[in-house]
Amino acid sequence: MTRLIFLGAPGAGKGTQAKLMANLCSIPHVSTGDILRTAVTNQASLGLQAKLYMDRGDLVPDQLVVALIQERLNNHDAQEGWILDGFPRNLAQAEFLDSLLNEIDQPCDYVVNLDVPDDILVQRMLERGRTDDTEEVIRNRLKVYREQTSPLIDFYSKRKKLAIVNGDQLMDGVTDDLKRLIQR
Ligand code: AMP
Repeated sequence: MTRLIFLGAPGAGKGTQAKLMANLCSIPHVSTGDILRTAVTNQASLGLQAKLYMDRGDLVPDQLVVALIQERLNNHDAQEGWILDGFPRNLAQAEFLDSLLNEIDQPCDYVVNLDVPDDILVQRMLERGRTDDTEEVIRNRLKVYREQTSPLIDFYSKRKKLAIVNGDQLMDGVTDDLKRLIQR
């Protein structure tokens, strides 16, 4: 049974690697960003509420994503493991997740921090050309990451859950490191 949380700055490759690992382990890839983008496309009420924040590169309000994660992890297909990608993004979300996972008795194995230098991050995000990847928005997303998400590295390190993986290498190299981690 594999349960992993992926941390990492925007552009670190966590979406790609989280998807690969989820396929490999036949468990759901739970990406709050993907779920929110689908809601925006479908003009669902969640999407309408989230769009303004996403367009700016800001975090959408906690109560929206927290409800979404709670529902998703209670789903039948998540009982055999999962990979979380993009959640938690701040301390309040991490505290919430801690108590949710305790409550449903699903402790995570590792919190993976995909480590990539800043200049590489910006370059990668500009290359992927998503609609929320303009230079100004990218700068804001990095700022939001530094201010709100990066404190989680310390949070999980103190809980002895943190695994640092070098994200600044060829894709296969990162995947191999991740495979080794879950086989430990
Ligand atoms: P991502 O695909 O993970 O980079 O997420 C894209 C955008 O969705 C982010 O810039 C945020 O606006 C929003 N988002 C995704 N996950 C979260 C989260 N856990 N908390 C708040 N906002 C989120």
